[in-house]
Amino acid sequence: MGSRLETDFLIVGAGIAGLRAAIELAGAGRVLVVTKEQLGESNTNYAQGGIAVALGGEEDVELHLDDTTRAGDGLVNKTAAAILVEEGPLRVEELLEWGTRFDREHGELMLTREGAHSRSRILHANGDATGAEIGRSLLQHARSIPNITLAEWRTCEELITDGDTVIGLVLVTRDGERQTVSARAVLLASGGAGQVYSDTTNPAVATGDGIAMAWRAGSEIADMEFYQFHPTALSLPGVPRFLLSEALRGEGAWLRNSRQERFMERYHLLLELAPRDIVARAITREGIGASPGDTLPVYLDMRQVTGLNLNQRFPGISSFLREHGLELGRDLIPVRPAAHYLMGGVKTDVHGRTSLKRLYAAGEVACTGVHGANRLASNSLLEGLVFGARAAAEMREETSFSARMEALPEHTLPEYTPVRRTSTTSPQPSPHTPPVADLAASIQHTMWVKAGLLRDRQGLEGAAEDLRDIAAAIPRTNTRPAIELCSLHAVATLIVRSALAREESRGAHYRNDFPQRDDVTFQKHSVVSGDGRVQFVEE
Ligand SMILES: Cc1cc2nc3c(=O)[nH]c(=O)nc-3n(C[C@H](O)[C@H](O)[C@H](O)COP(=O)(O)OP(=O)(O)OC[C@H]3O[C@@H](n4cnc5c(N)ncnc54)[C@H](O)[C@@H]3O)c2cc1C
Repeated sequence: MGSRLETDFLIVGAGIAGLRAAIELAGAGRVLVVTKEQLGESNTNYAQGGIAVALGGEEDVELHLDDTTRAGDGLVNKTAAAILVEEGPLRVEELLEWGTRFDREHGELMLTREGAHSRSRILHANGDATGAEIGRSLLQHARSIPNITLAEWRTCEELITDGDTVIGLVLVTRDGERQTVSARAVLLASGGAGQVYSDTTNPAVATGDGIAMAWRAGSEIADMEFYQFHPTALSLPGVPRFLLSEALRGEGAWLRNSRQERFMERYHLLLELAPRDIVARAITREGIGASPGDTLPVYLDMRQVTGLNLNQRFPGISSFLREHGLELGRDLIPVRPAAHYLMGGVKTDVHGRTSLKRLYAAGEVACTGVHGANRLASNSLLEGLVFGARAAAEMREETSFSARMEALPEHTLPEYTPVRRTSTTSPQPSPHTPPVADLAASIQHTMWVKAGLLRDRQGLEGAAEDLRDIAAAIPRTNTRPAIELCSLHAVATLIVRSALAREESRGAHYRNDFPQRDDVTFQKHSVVSGDGRVQFVEE
């Protein structure tokens, strides 16, 4: 066994949720923030369009709540959503105090509009690089606080529990050394899991490790069938699925099919600004060719947008497209949906508490139910700020109480023995099993084809079978790729089980064999417990 570390508060992840939480906790003890790669490599860093916030007073807050609830398709946790929109303005004002430079015109904050928002309320920075600017300012602020230690290139592998209490975790450094870290409380702020699909806008770090660790430790996981597919990721052969922000449609972009017809009027009154799940499915349907497996191109069109300097408004997107020979205002841009945001995750209450003691979760890894079945555009950066701060406040409160009641002995960690590394019992892999990268690619392909945007029982059962086969080949080593492979497998298993159990269509979850929404049976959240069973529960 490698070295042992001790801290008061351990935070897994340095995206918006982890950094905001670290700042909140710093007055209460030593805070250790660990990240898988260098600081800044996170979904937060790639967020383009902006952060939704109701800065226009009470009426705006009410409207933001209505929009969030409507997009969530009957499954939004109303308490969580009210907290999000009511506490959002204060959290964004703090960002301004800490030096976040949102775009302004004549000194006033600029606001844009995105899909399913009833008014313009999205702040943005450097045109289309909002997440990077927020991350920069939070990091700068966190670095100025002596109690916070930021540790890069550490992959957290497994939570350590004592009964139903989390007392630390095991991580692997870049050099392969394993370290155990004990803490009074652990916050998972480890982000999403887009890498579980072959087509995703998420960076390589988004492999759902936090969800997998929490599940293996016995924590409840909720709403995993709800994966949001962003409608418009660039679709060029051999080019990464670069996101083409919803703000493009907010500024007037249209969608056209292969016959160059504008088609959204056949799908929703809000046309291109309909909720994401509806736009994503419409693009998928318009892209189905005449024979099975054939796909037709679908395009984003900004040629009709006048009075806006597109290069200035969208500098990052324009320059990426230019590298591939495309101009926003001149060309039809080929697009297709890609996995983007996980509404489900580690089940928490509105204070970030999970079903395990001293384990908290906030940001994309968590599921408060705030997004219901479908997240409203630009609500997730806000979620990270609001619920990162709330989880930290609760950690401070609960640990000071329990520290008074039962002061932790200095070395509380038992000797670490690895727990179940895959989600199903599997035999030892033979020496001839495929390399880890191939196994990960198999999971991603299976998930895209059989558990993607349009699902049915046959496909999902096929995916479950593929996952059982892949489990048998997963190596039991502790390298980062092997740890991530286990996470992908666990997340895929959770998605498939939950999607099979939800025999209706709602929000981002669409079943071809159950195309209607069924409120009588399914206006409930799916919850998978440690034993793998799916149950449906009311809020
Ligand atoms: C391309 C793109 C564009 C987006 N645009 C917007 C937008 O305009 N507006 C909006 O609101 N949302 C947007 N989103 C979504 C939003 O960016 C994310 O939901 C949000 O940033 C998540 O923040 P987080 O703090 O929860 O996680 P992240 O920012 O993803 O941070 C996760 C952290 O956890 C670390 N980590 C993960 N696993 C481990 C491990 N095993 N050990 C140690 N560390 C680990 C990572 O290294 C990282 O530091 C976008 C997402 C993408 C991918």
